[in-house]
Amino acid sequence: MNNEKKVILTGMQPTGFLHLGNFLGAANNWNKILDQYTCYFFIPNQHAITIPQVPANLRNATLNCVAQYIACGLDPNRCTIFVQSHIIGHTELTWVLSCLTPLGQLYRMHQFKDKSAKKENIYSGLLYYPVLMAADILLYNADFVPTGEDQRQHVELARDLAEKFNVTYSETFTIPSPLIETSGARIMSLKAPEHKMSKSDSDSNATIYITDEPKIIQKKIASAVTDSGDIIANDPKRPGIANLLNIYCAATGISMEEAEEKFSTYRSYAPFKKELADVLITLLEPVQEKYKSIKDDKEYLQSVIRKGTEMVQPIAYRTLSKVYRKVGFLDK
Ligand code: ATP
Ligand code: MG
Repeated sequence: MNNEKKVILTGMQPTGFLHLGNFLGAANNWNKILDQYTCYFFIPNQHAITIPQVPANLRNATLNCVAQYIACGLDPNRCTIFVQSHIIGHTELTWVLSCLTPLGQLYRMHQFKDKSAKKENIYSGLLYYPVLMAADILLYNADFVPTGEDQRQHVELARDLAEKFNVTYSETFTIPSPLIETSGARIMSLKAPEHKMSKSDSDSNATIYITDEPKIIQKKIASAVTDSGDIIANDPKRPGIANLLNIYCAATGISMEEAEEKFSTYRSYAPFKKELADVLITLLEPVQEKYKSIKDDKEYLQSVIRKGTEMVQPIAYRTLSKVYRKVGFLDK
C-alpha cells in the first residue's frame, strides 16, 4: 500500500492584493489541508508578466504575497512556499509541453478570450499562460490543484498534456485533478456581477481586498450593484443580489437554501447588506491582524521563500531531467 501523502499545488498571482474571490474560493480552505497533503504554494510571478507590470510593484507584490499567504493561514512549517521564477524548470518544462499543445486549444481558453478582449496588443505569453500553468503542476506531480472555477479549463489542459506526454514518451506525470469549492468558487464583481471579481480590475470598488478596513468593506457592500427588487434570493436574472447571497454562504459555510430561508422575511436589501458586511469584517479580522504583524518583516518573508526554494528545486530538477531524457535530449 502506498502511504505517501498526495501532493497539492496552488498559487495566486502577485498582481495586487488578494480579494474575497481568492480568499473564499481558495485561500480560506488552505489551512484545512496542510496536514493531509504535501502542500506546495507558489507565487506565480512569471504568470503575472503576461499582463504589463511595473517592475518595482511586481517585486514588492511578490514578497507581499508571501505575507498574505501566511496571513490566510499558511504555516510555513507545515507547507512549502516558493517563488516561481526562483526555480529552474517551470519555463523549461513549458517549452517541452508547448510542443505537444495544439494552438487551437489555447485560443479557446476563456481566460485568454477575457483578458485579450478589447486589447490592441496581445502578446504570446498570455496565450501560453495555460501551458506554463500545466508545467507548474506537472513539475511537482501534483495530484490536486485547488482553484476557483475560472481555472478549471486550465487544469483540464494540464491533464490533457500529462496524458499526451505519458502516451507519447511513456508513463511520467501524475494526472492532476482540480479541487473546486462548491460555494465561493466564483465570486463576482460588486460593480459588474456578470464578470468575476479580479485583482486586476481597475475599479477598486468592484473588489473587496482581504486587507480592506471595516469601513471600506461596509461602503463597498452598501454600494454593490443590485436591482430595484427587494427579495433576497439566488435568481440568475438578478446577478447582483445572487452574488452577495453566494458571498454570504461562502463566508458563513451555510447552504444557499438555508440562506434564502434566513432572509426570506426581509423586504429590503439594506439590512442584508449590513449583515453581510459584518460577517466579512469578522471573517477577515484575524487575517488582517496576522498580515499587519508580518508584512514589514522582509527578512522573515525572504527566509520563508529561501527555505521553499531549497525544498522544491531538487524535485523540479528531477522531473526535468526525466523529461529531457524521455524526449531525447543528450545528457551533459
Ligand atoms: P488576475 O485578475 O490578475 O488574473 P485573479 O483575481 O484572477 O487575478 P489569480 O491570481 O489569477 O486571481 O487566481 C488565484 C486563485 O484565485 C485561482 O485559484 C483562481 O481560480 C481563484 N480566483 C480568482 N478569482 C476568483 C473569483 N472571482 N472567485 C473565486 N475564485 C477566484
Ligand atoms: Mg486570474
